Amino acid sequence: MSGERSVFARSLLTAHSYFSVIILRFTMHPILLSLLLGLTAAAANVFGGTMIVQKNWDRSYLKYFVALGAGFMLAAAIVEIVPESLILGGKSAALLVLGGYLIIHFFEHTITPHFHFGEETHSDEFVASNRGFSVLLGLVIHTYFDGIAIASGFIVSSWLGWVIFLAVFLHKIPEGFTVASVMLASGQSKRLAWGASVLLGGATLAGVLSMAAMRQHIGLGLPLSGGVTIYVAASDLMPEVNREPGVKMALVVLLGVGVFFLLDRIVH
Ligand SMILES: [Zn+2]
Ligand SMILES: [Zn+2]
Repeated sequence: MSGERSVFARSLLTAHSYFSVIILRFTMHPILLSLLLGLTAAAANVFGGTMIVQKNWDRSYLKYFVALGAGFMLAAAIVEIVPESLILGGKSAALLVLGGYLIIHFFEHTITPHFHFGEETHSDEFVASNRGFSVLLGLVIHTYFDGIAIASGFIVSSWLGWVIFLAVFLHKIPEGFTVASVMLASGQSKRLAWGASVLLGGATLAGVLSMAAMRQHIGLGLPLSGGVTIYVAASDLMPEVNREPGVKMALVVLLGVGVFFLLDRIVH
């Protein structure tokens, strides 16, 4: 009996030390953690792309992801990322936040004649097939900054890292979905459409790796990420939310904000 108990106790102890080693590793290596989470975010891009090429998949719930993501991202950017950036770099960090916003606006909308988040149904806008590629370029720049954002967060603290990861993750499936549907609307093959979502995943990982290699430039990476996050929340996702009539979607946005504050309460 006591032998059985000691086996149980020993295996519990083994499990305990196994998990503490993992947790220790993660707290010791924020870069490793941001790489793993960057990979998770990249996989979500590919998942979104797969949804578009597999026509029979149900995607009616995607709009809730968009609304939840919009609320969560907006709260995370305004309440956490921007203030942390100001602490890091002083008042001049605000200029970088503005810069981050404008960079994504430039690549997603100025050089791209037609772009919005969600399924692309306006195929008449894509008579010139290179328009699909200009959207792809815009989204590659955007997703590169998603990766920069995740790594920047973990360089500052694991709380900020997790918050930014969730903010990124919540819009990753719609993002992969968007790029694949734009490619299809511009007359590209399913294989290429899916490949475009893989490319977005790759750009996210490249962003994580760049920030990991340039940790000393956190004062640049974090405020730029703040501006990018505000752009994605308020100018990419929110207009999609507003296209749906009724209060239901607005409530999901509020739920996203609520989830952010709930996490804040639990952690702090
Ligand atoms: Zn459209
Ligand atoms: Zn993104």
